[in-house]
Amino acid sequence: MKIFGSIEAGGTKFVCGVGTNPADLRTTAFPTKAPDETLPAVLDFLRREGGAELAAVGIGSFGPVDLDPMSPAYGHITSTPKPGWANFDLAGAVRSALGVPAGFDTDVNAAAIGEARWGAARDVASCLYLTFGTGVGGGYIADGRLLHGMIHPEMGHIRIPHDRAADPFPGVCPFHGDCLEGLCCGPALEKRWGKPSRELPAEHPAWALQSRYVAMALATFVCTLSPARIILGGGVMKQTQLFGSIRSGLAEFLNGYVVSPSLGEGLDQYVVPPGLGDRAGVLGGIALAQQALERK
Ligand code: ZN
Repeated sequence: MKIFGSIEAGGTKFVCGVGTNPADLRTTAFPTKAPDETLPAVLDFLRREGGAELAAVGIGSFGPVDLDPMSPAYGHITSTPKPGWANFDLAGAVRSALGVPAGFDTDVNAAAIGEARWGAARDVASCLYLTFGTGVGGGYIADGRLLHGMIHPEMGHIRIPHDRAADPFPGVCPFHGDCLEGLCCGPALEKRWGKPSRELPAEHPAWALQSRYVAMALATFVCTLSPARIILGGGVMKQTQLFGSIRSGLAEFLNGYVVSPSLGEGLDQYVVPPGLGDRAGVLGGIALAQQALERK
């Protein structure tokens, strides 16, 4: 019997899991402090819960990260401002402490692979997972493989049409101002409307604008990636009333050009919430661990 470990390394907490699938997953979480505080707690949990049967660990990490297997910095968190984590070899530290293979990817790619394996995209060959939370990020899977390309996609930082006469908000992205993340992440909503997004009522004008921007971004991703399903997660998307207006906005922006039943009568099953809820990332780590063992 092989057991797998998972680490969802986030900016505020590390969610850790041990198991083989959603039914047997056991999880816990530790606050993100410096590596020499957080990592021993994580490793203790994986050792204790996994025991001698722990076969591999999968890590989905906050970034930026180095995912190039040919790079000397592969498995490192690279230029983060978080104290102690810049240039930290997270995958290497886990691998050497536990003596098992360690799969490594971005947090959003981990969530995407979790959803593809066990969640809302388990019945399709390709999917796009987008998260709208503290930031905005995306992971794309086709035929079971995550798209990495040169480094990894940064889908949250695409430009979307922004009518500054109708919406003068300049955005919050420190690099681009009004990129998708700059307009649509949780901190953007809070700065624009003066309260956290979870406190904005369903009928607040914030949501019509949010739906419109998300739908514009999805139209771009449908035209560039042609995913067979789109999953929208993250704290902001807990406003489930957004799904209807995002779907209709997507159909409106595509204007009949991309022809698929998924964009017609199947639209309600095309743009969907995560099937695994908040466990997509930690379960994705289990899937990354299984892949790491297969590649060994
Ligand atoms: Zn940006």
